[in-house]
Amino acid sequence: MHQNGFTTTILHSDREQSVEHGAVHKPMHPSSEFAYEDARELAAVFQGKAGFTYARQGTPTTTALEAKVSRMEGGKGTVSFATGMAALSAIFTTLLRRGDHLVSSQFIFGNTNSLLGTLQELGVEITFVDVTDAAQVRAALRPETRMVFTETIANPGTQVADLAVIGQICREHGLVYVVDNTLTSPWMFQPASVGASLVMNSLSKYISGHGNALGGSVTDTGLYDWSGYANIYEAYRKGPSTSWGLTQVKKKGLRDMGGTLAAEPAHRIAVGAETLALRMARHCSNALALARLLESHRGVARVHYPGLPGHPQHERAKALFGSRFGGLLGVELAEGVDCFDFLNRLRVVLMATHLGDTRSLALPAAHTIYYEMGPERRRQMGIADSLIRVSVGIEDEADLLFDFDQALNACLPG
Ligand SMILES: *Cc1c(COP(=O)(O)O)cnc(C)c1O
Repeated sequence: MHQNGFTTTILHSDREQSVEHGAVHKPMHPSSEFAYEDARELAAVFQGKAGFTYARQGTPTTTALEAKVSRMEGGKGTVSFATGMAALSAIFTTLLRRGDHLVSSQFIFGNTNSLLGTLQELGVEITFVDVTDAAQVRAALRPETRMVFTETIANPGTQVADLAVIGQICREHGLVYVVDNTLTSPWMFQPASVGASLVMNSLSKYISGHGNALGGSVTDTGLYDWSGYANIYEAYRKGPSTSWGLTQVKKKGLRDMGGTLAAEPAHRIAVGAETLALRMARHCSNALALARLLESHRGVARVHYPGLPGHPQHERAKALFGSRFGGLLGVELAEGVDCFDFLNRLRVVLMATHLGDTRSLALPAAHTIYYEMGPERRRQMGIADSLIRVSVGIEDEADLLFDFDQALNACLPG
């Protein structure tokens, strides 16, 4: 039987639930509460029947977006949040307890690094390892280990985790495998394919794509059987045991912690998602062209990009991501090229944090997003003082190449 592809599926997903008046989008529902004709029906929804009660726990608008994310990830269910950080907070704080052990990638988003520090204060033990080498994950395991966490491609060093082998290790040891898929997006990679239990996405990045909405999501792949997981509350041990974890993330994480995605950003993200495949292909081709230019430029010492044959995980990235390498570059400038001077000369590229926007963005990583963690942790994460992080946008390729070339040439010493 014919199966529709990625973009066709997303474009037509709202219509599957017959939208009012033939509208092509699910409408935005700004209501805070949902009323019922019959009080028994209200009680039934509180007791687990599908439906809406109070918007903190979801609306028809967030539900429509969640269905799209589940389709994109090949998952069984998704819960959306106000931001990616709210999604990560919900996963870690609702599924881990004092005395539990987490094995985490040492190459992680700066704010995730800070969040894991808070988790340590609360009594969760964490070992940070180099996830490009799955043996380090195996060596870190303890009897109290409950979960392994990694990103797909790390930022800004672009290390590619040994995602498939880590998945096997988690399966052998019954561990929850959480993958942050933000840098790859479900168009490049579905973590379910390597056995992930939960997939997190910052919807603010490529999925939304236009720099006009924040959001986050947790998708359940249905691959983990939570019946043997100690931290699931009795109340959520109902229905198939493969869905208990996401139920707990939704109840304890979304409902109780309250990082709810509002209807308007949910709608914007859903519209953005319609062109994810088109944008992502352009991000990837622009980034590869730029990486090649920069690699051969006198003003550059090193380029970190998985699409370059010299990248330590180039072959792995080809195999995992179907020879698509993403839109993020780490660029170490040559001795004598001042990173601030260089950035100030860029004309098309914006100096801003954020990534996955249609517009190209650049910043000096050690002095901004990785400033708070200090020099020692930066060394451990491989972040040099001269490292520029570039989120390559979808501008015309020639304009981007010209902009970087002119800015570098103007900064060359002597
Ligand atoms: C941006 C980002 C997050 C956090 O997402 P927000 O939506 O900004 O809260 C988490 N992980 C990665 C890899 C990110 O790039």
